[in-house]
Formats: sequence, C-alpha cells, structure tokens
Amino acid sequence: MLDVVACGELLIDFTPVTHAEKGKIAFEQNPGGAPANVLTALSGFGKKTSFIGAVGNDAFGRFLKQTLMGAGIGTEGLVLTDDAPTTLAFVHIDQRSDRSFYFYRNPGADTMLCEKDINEELVAQARLFHFGSLSLTHEPARSATRKAVEIAKENQRQVSFDPNYRASLWENADEARRMILSGIQQADIVKLSEEEVAFVAPTNDVQEATEWIIKQYGNQIILVTLGAKGCFYRTPNHYGIVEGFKVDAVDTTGAGDAFFGGMLYQILEAKEEMTALSAQDLEQMIRFANAAGAIATTRTGAIPAMPTLEDVEWLINRGK
Ligand code: ADP
Repeated sequence: MLDVVACGELLIDFTPVTHAEKGKIAFEQNPGGAPANVLTALSGFGKKTSFIGAVGNDAFGRFLKQTLMGAGIGTEGLVLTDDAPTTLAFVHIDQRSDRSFYFYRNPGADTMLCEKDINEELVAQARLFHFGSLSLTHEPARSATRKAVEIAKENQRQVSFDPNYRASLWENADEARRMILSGIQQADIVKLSEEEVAFVAPTNDVQEATEWIIKQYGNQIILVTLGAKGCFYRTPNHYGIVEGFKVDAVDTTGAGDAFFGGMLYQILEAKEEMTALSAQDLEQMIRFANAAGAIATTRTGAIPAMPTLEDVEWLINRGK
C-alpha cells in the first residue's frame, strides 16, 4: 500500500551560481517541480510515495528519474516521452535579490502526460492523492490530471491541492482562476499563498476569503502560508494563525513544499479524521509543518533542502 501519489510537473531549474568567472553567469542544473518536492519531504519522513508525470526522453529526463529514485520515490508512473524535451526553467535574480522564473515549455514534456499514462491501480491504492495547477495549464496533461483526481475520489482517497500559480504559464488570468478553483473544489486539503487567496477569492482578506472558499467548496482544511509569519488555517469548525519559527533564511525555494509535505505527513499520522481534530491538535500539526518549511529556508535548492524528521524535531524542541 502506498501513502501518497502525486501527479504534476517535473522539470529542470537552472539556478545562477555565484562562483562563475567575472562577467559571466553560470547556471546550475537542479531538479524542480513542486509535487516532486512534496513527495521528497514525505519520503524523508518515512512515507511510501510515487510520482506520476512526464519528462523528455533525454539526459535531463533521465537525471530527473534518477533524482526521484534517489529520494526513494516510486517512478512506475513516470513517462519518458519522445513528444517534447524536458521542461526547463531559468531562474533570474535581480539586484534586489528577487527571483523570477522563465520557462522553456513550448511545449515541454511535462504537459505531454496523457490520460492513458495514468496507472489506475497506482492512484487507487494510495491513501492520499496530491496535485497542483501546473499540470492543468495545457492539454493533454490537464485531462490526465483530472482523470487521476477522479480515480482518487472514486476510491474515497484524500485529495490535496497546492496551485503554485505561475501567471506566465497561463493563456490568461480568467482561465487560470477557473482551473485553480476547479482544483480547490476537488480537494479536501488546500494550501494557498496570500497572493493566491487574493487571486481566487472575491476578497483579499484572508479570514473572509477562506470562509468563502470553505462555504463554496466544503474543504476539510485551507492553509494559507505567510512566509516567516507562519500559517493561517481554517477548517469548517476552527481557524487561527500558527506562528513561524525564527531561523536564518538563505533561500526560500521549496519552503512551501516542505511545509505541505510536513502537513500531509501529520494528516496521514493523525489518529482521528480531520473533522474530529481539535484546534489544539490542528495547531500542533501545523507547527510541525512550519518547522519543516523553516528548515527548508536555511538551505539552498528545493529537493536537497527538504528536512528529515530529526531536523524538524530538533527545531520544535528548540522552540520559537
Ligand atoms: P510558499 O512557497 O508556498 O509561498 P512560504 O514562503 O509562505 O510558502 O513558506 C511556507 C512556510 O515555510 C511558511 O508557512 C513558514 O512556516 C515557513 N517559512 C517560510 N519562510 C520562512 C522564514 N523566512 N522563516 C521561517 N519560516 C519560514
């Protein structure tokens, strides 16, 4: 039996490195893709995971497959396609240290996942199915992702969703909003950033917006990550803020994925159904997720920055 199956993008992030010769910029090849980062965190916490997605039948694709295997993630649902090269994203850092992403995806292999590639048995046996919105931007990956979600729901599995909204990958904002809301509608567990809340809800007040989302779509929990400030949460019965940990952050890439991996781990470990959990139980679980996110910010990259159980326990015991 599997704990978590995730479906979505797997790509190369080219990140600028500082040790390049003066006047030149060098880019380092890093594995990227939020669903795979979340699975890496979960695998590190001891959960059995498997990934569904498409990469190119090229050196980058093979590198990504190796990376998943090295992280202990099942690759039986990973397709190496000849239809498009592995998707690439170049990271640019401006003078104010702000990051921007430029995607080479016209098309990229990650959008080439087809309905027929979805292994029904793989999805059906996992306790939880996780997805995001990058695999909803283009066909055929959109229909493939929707099919996987349907299989999970038919088998009464828990479903989690983190949109990871990247405006440049969408035809237009209305289409993005419509698809992200359809993802939220299908999910029991939803993670959003403050910007994403403002993007999908009729108000950018986090309290009101999350109330609107839960009323509209009946989710079990909405988590709104607030960077260093921690996380706001809302369930049908409770809401509140769980403060973040004070750490020396060097790179926030992957913090959201480490956070969500930590939260999903706690949900899988919980002795009771989500709806039966008290505010105190929920806040303890979110504290674990906050610690996982905080640790990821103290290391560079995403997959190499994912914390272990020992890391998280150390920070929780340290406190604040
Ligand atoms: P996302 O990448 O999804 O926008 P955030 O950047 O809000 O997510 O980070 C996710 C979680 O990681 C936060 O809720 C918090 O718990 C933790 N975190 C992020 N940045 C910091 C930081 N600078 N210091 C401590 N914790 C952080």
